[in-house]
Amino acid sequence: MPIATTNPATGRTLKSYEPMSAEQIDAAIERADLAYRQLRGTTIAQRGRWLNAAADLLEAERDEIARLMTTEMGKTYASARAEVTKCAGACRFYAARAAEFLADEPADAEAVKATRAFVRYQPIGPVLAVMPWNFPLWQVLRFAAPALMAGNTGLLKHASNVPQTALLLEDLFRRAGFPEGAFTTLLIGSAEVERVLSDPRVRAATLTGSEGAGRSIAQIAGRELKKTVLELGGSDPFVVMPSADLERAAEVATTARCQNNGQSCIAAKRFIVHTDVFDAFAEKLAANMSALRVGDPMDPDTDVGPLASEGGRDEVHAQVRDAVDRGATVLCGGEPPAGPGWFYPPTVVTDLRPEMRMWSEEVFGPVAGLYRVSSYDEAIEVANGTSFGLGSNAWTRDPQEQERFAADLDAGNVFVNGMTTSYPELPFGGVKNSGYGRELSALGMREFCNTKTVWVGEGAASAGVGAHAE
Ligand code: NAP
Repeated sequence: MPIATTNPATGRTLKSYEPMSAEQIDAAIERADLAYRQLRGTTIAQRGRWLNAAADLLEAERDEIARLMTTEMGKTYASARAEVTKCAGACRFYAARAAEFLADEPADAEAVKATRAFVRYQPIGPVLAVMPWNFPLWQVLRFAAPALMAGNTGLLKHASNVPQTALLLEDLFRRAGFPEGAFTTLLIGSAEVERVLSDPRVRAATLTGSEGAGRSIAQIAGRELKKTVLELGGSDPFVVMPSADLERAAEVATTARCQNNGQSCIAAKRFIVHTDVFDAFAEKLAANMSALRVGDPMDPDTDVGPLASEGGRDEVHAQVRDAVDRGATVLCGGEPPAGPGWFYPPTVVTDLRPEMRMWSEEVFGPVAGLYRVSSYDEAIEVANGTSFGLGSNAWTRDPQEQERFAADLDAGNVFVNGMTTSYPELPFGGVKNSGYGRELSALGMREFCNTKTVWVGEGAASAGVGAHAE
């Protein structure tokens, strides 16, 4: 895959890059390792000042950054601006909360026959981050902010179609004051990931991307005995029960499916609707989806921009065609428009069956699959009947049903009467083939920490071990 910026709204390639040589990669890893030794000796307060400075830069340069993101991967300018704002918020969150998340945790000293015992969280070294293009700033920031605050350094291998955003991120952390090498962008193709992850100076990896990339990185990391966090695909269920507020559910369903032009891992993709309200919900959803305006992502009136790549659009259309050829019904959309750019209309497909690709595959575009069920148990069976387990949504005003959904949905999160969203305050991640490990919250920060047990016996000076510099 060439490392290049190609505008998905026009199909025109605007800028191409030569991949880094083996020597350049080695030098970047060396800088990351040296920077790690420096960074781990700084205080949390100092790192917090740098991270807050990064947030200031993001806020000051929001429009320019958003324009670049829209040009590289086609999200609407409005959503790109919102993404920049969210990133600044996450930087401020970790700058403010890191001291609490990394504080020593006292243990029961008497039970372990110590005078003092506690747990300390320490950085582990350079971490490789392999990231996707769909939220080109946020996916990286949600790794980088906690990692840098913990004292780790980052090596970013971003998706090949967002090289300018990738370089902007390296520049951002440098300008914010972090030491040279604390955060480095590697302009490399996916074939070079093995070289980086096999290097003994690189201590761990995080990937946000497809199942295939997850398997490949987990294999290398397994061989090298390195920790990984994997945030992979999803085909989130959105269950609508008879007591739901149908109007609101259909409104949120439309946003949940079409946000980011339908290319979000946590987008609701399978709409599982109780038969008592199926027809009413289907009608509302199809009406809402048809009303969305598809077009130039820079235009403030546009709701849905182009898909990020021609291959991505072809794949979505092939999945829809496969369903239709096997007997599914299209309620709206289903045909890409003629003309330049990789646009795909908001589409609703029903009468789905297990032999259709859409039943079991993730659809990475604005296509909603509708499933009719006749009971709570059947809803759970269809919702959990997938290899994925990232997010999930349930719509019901029945408090008992709400409890049951929270317990029974097999996913990394359950949002009741709302849309799955990521917040720095809440852990984020999946189960089954959606990956493992967690990002965000205190848990995300500790994924790349050495959880060190400290046991102190008799004879420790009172101001000795445990007088934490930070
Ligand atoms: P992708 O093809 O897996 O690409 C993601 C990143 O992995 C890119 O940097 C890519 O590099 C790299 N990559 C691809 N194959 C690789 C391999 N075999 N070894 C090492 N690196 C490899 O995914 P995508 O199609 O761009 O993104 C969409 C997928 O990401 C969807 O499945 C979506 O659900 C998932 N996703 C998950 C989350 C989450 O938080 N769980 C969030 C967003 C997206 P190149 O660009 O150079 O190929």
